[in-house]
Amino acid sequence: MENSPVLRTWLDELNLDHPLVIAGPCSAETEDQVLKIAHSLKDTDVNYFRAGIWKPRTRPGNFEGVGAIGLKWLQKVKEETGLKTATEVANRAHVELALEHDIDILWIGARSTVSPFIVQDIADALKGTDKIILLKNPVNPDLSLWLGGVERLYKSDIKNLGVIHRGFSTYEKSKYRNIPEWQLAIELQNKFPDLPLICDPSHITGKRDMIFDVSQTALDLNFDGLMIETHCDPDNAWSDAAQQVTPERLVQIMKDLKIRKETDEEAEYNSKLNLLRAQIDVIDNSLIDTLGKRMRIADEIGGLKKSKNVAVLQSKRWNEILGKMILEGEQRGLSEEFVLRIFKAIHQESINHQEKILKR
Ligand code: PEP
Ligand code: MN
Repeated sequence: MENSPVLRTWLDELNLDHPLVIAGPCSAETEDQVLKIAHSLKDTDVNYFRAGIWKPRTRPGNFEGVGAIGLKWLQKVKEETGLKTATEVANRAHVELALEHDIDILWIGARSTVSPFIVQDIADALKGTDKIILLKNPVNPDLSLWLGGVERLYKSDIKNLGVIHRGFSTYEKSKYRNIPEWQLAIELQNKFPDLPLICDPSHITGKRDMIFDVSQTALDLNFDGLMIETHCDPDNAWSDAAQQVTPERLVQIMKDLKIRKETDEEAEYNSKLNLLRAQIDVIDNSLIDTLGKRMRIADEIGGLKKSKNVAVLQSKRWNEILGKMILEGEQRGLSEEFVLRIFKAIHQESINHQEKILKR
């Protein structure tokens, strides 16, 4: 699908002078808990109150949400505090109940976005709605699946659409609960520039101490808003205890975040920026050039291996290269993670080239 037809979005219409903030507990637990949190977020920059009513849990036996009764509590939140409300929907029945209870934002969770059947079913149930619908990224780093979900919702004539970046799960251990892979969100934004892009640092980090940093990175990357799990007693939350912050901490985070302008017209800034960008362009060209040269040599090695019927993968040599490059990288201020990623990608491309030669 081409870029979205929307020019002015629901977000522009809110006329906010700060990024959009959606906050509230991971799960609605009791009526008191929900109302207490909502009242403490009432006179802050929070725009929407979130609470999960139906909770997708990875393993059975955990708290799976209070169900439809929680929608009544959210209605009470709106009546008592004026805060608009948001909850996750994962099937047609959820959609119908959430619409009946006048929930303002319905979001589709990461575990639902992975299934085109589920997304289509939800899109059909939502057809033509003027509620705000937010689509989280799928749990796996698959851009087409995320784009496909957006397209299904657009095709269902949903005008007030947005996406939430909540990171991606990996088998490899990392400091994140779900690694951000910012590039994917940036690519999605390039494809749909009018689509509001919201970051969920709570599910990216899994740890409350890291929420500020990830939120700042999101704002530095021009994200339009944040969804931050907030609870009056985070340690005793019934789900996602480690990543929730108190309302006081949320207010502090919002105060400390630096909001960047998209650009600045000042002449000196622009001439300096252009000069630096010209240098980056020269370096990028030489990077590509060098990679091309490296690959031609890998091709020659492929020919040599073929003539002697030797295997493409030489683990010992490869581990030596990696070890050396990590050290070299360190001296230049490049992280081990980065060097590993780059060299694994280069190595994979060499293997592909040599495989082709061996099969010729
Ligand atoms: C949530 O927002 O509480 C949630 C379940 O998120 P996700 O779908 O990103 O895991
Ligand atoms: Mn959660």
